Amino acid sequence: MSGLAASPAPAGAAAGCGVPPVLRERGQREVFCGLTGIVWLHRKIQDAFFLVVGSRTCAHLLQSAAGVMIFAEPRFATAIIDERDLAGMADANDELDRVVTRLIERRPDIRMLFLVGSCPSEVIKLDLSRAAQRLSRRFAPRLRVLNYSGSGIETTFTQGEDACLAALVPEMPAEPGAARSLLVVGALAEVVEDQFLRLFAALGVGPVRFLPSRRAGELPAVGEGTQFLLAQPFLGETARRLEARGARRLCAPFPLGAEGTTAWLRAAAEAWGVAPARFDAAVGPGAARAATAVAQRRERLAGRTVFFFPDSQLEIPLARFLTRECGMVPVEIGTPYLHREHLAEELALLPAGVTLSEGQHVERQLDRCRAARPDLTVCGLGLANPLEAEGFTTKWSIELVFTPIQGYEQAGDLAELFARPLVRRARLAV
Ligand code: SF4
Repeated sequence: MSGLAASPAPAGAAAGCGVPPVLRERGQREVFCGLTGIVWLHRKIQDAFFLVVGSRTCAHLLQSAAGVMIFAEPRFATAIIDERDLAGMADANDELDRVVTRLIERRPDIRMLFLVGSCPSEVIKLDLSRAAQRLSRRFAPRLRVLNYSGSGIETTFTQGEDACLAALVPEMPAEPGAARSLLVVGALAEVVEDQFLRLFAALGVGPVRFLPSRRAGELPAVGEGTQFLLAQPFLGETARRLEARGARRLCAPFPLGAEGTTAWLRAAAEAWGVAPARFDAAVGPGAARAATAVAQRRERLAGRTVFFFPDSQLEIPLARFLTRECGMVPVEIGTPYLHREHLAEELALLPAGVTLSEGQHVERQLDRCRAARPDLTVCGLGLANPLEAEGFTTKWSIELVFTPIQGYEQAGDLAELFARPLVRRARLAV
């Protein structure tokens, strides 16, 4: 190991109870691995460090995904597994301990270290869970060491965040008694968190906490009185672990657009017994601003067809927003994985007869997309350029993960993200 340098899916059609028919595909995928989540997670937990135990390919992925950001003191790096490790000539555990010790001596500001597994660390069967326990003992109480996998064998793109947050759940302190609290789960931009805090305060809902927290030492408590709202649709394992600790999920659509945000806030308001008049007074102005902002972009979007390739698991809530608030017509909504329970409220809002696909067989999906000739194609970076060259108008789905899009104040920006490629294509045509 040399120093520091800076996806599963289910074929056929299946339908579940209350779920529209889903085209289930298995084949070659065009999706980033779960390491990508580090790009936004390292900015979220401000005293954490993400050490990928991987190859030069992993290091290159991270550097290019986060390449636009220059840090004096970066908070992620890759411990490179080299040929000696792969050939079994070096004790990878000793090497890892040496790399971590050097890092911690140099960076006393780090309070939480994530050892992030990759395809190479899985191939050599490096047990990062035992390594994390060993290193936690060595550096306690100054530093907590946790582990999760971001490998392309186990995870796609946003599943890296799920794996990271799931690793945090056992570290959360127990809520004393059955004290009541609301937990918002999923990495959100701080500006969005602050907006939601103001809305929950106006509703009288609280105390409100967020997972992940901004600092490693401020992990929220969890217990039988905890009710949680998912802010992201890709957190299945995190939710399962929270429920195992007594917390209860509030069922709601996701806070995208005016409608989604209102329904998401309403789920918490109903759980707290907020009177309808107080709810309307608290959310009314924000909902009206969001509806006005979206309406200004609606003319460019209404009646246009949209095709989603599976990428971030945000596809279904986004399609719901584009259909119901912007008047777009979904041709196919692809998602890498469909969590039927967490997406139930979203699925109920989709138009009847829409094509849903889960998993990917990229060649077949490209054939369907070419046959449909959608006005807008939402896809990953690997597909966008070839499709643009064929005359398709594309939107990079990764942008929807990096950009604050949740809540009322961001609803107009969210619509704008989809309107912009259409405007650009229209200008090029002129
Ligand atoms: Fe590639 Fe696997 Fe490393 Fe991801 S974890 S960059 S898929 S080698």
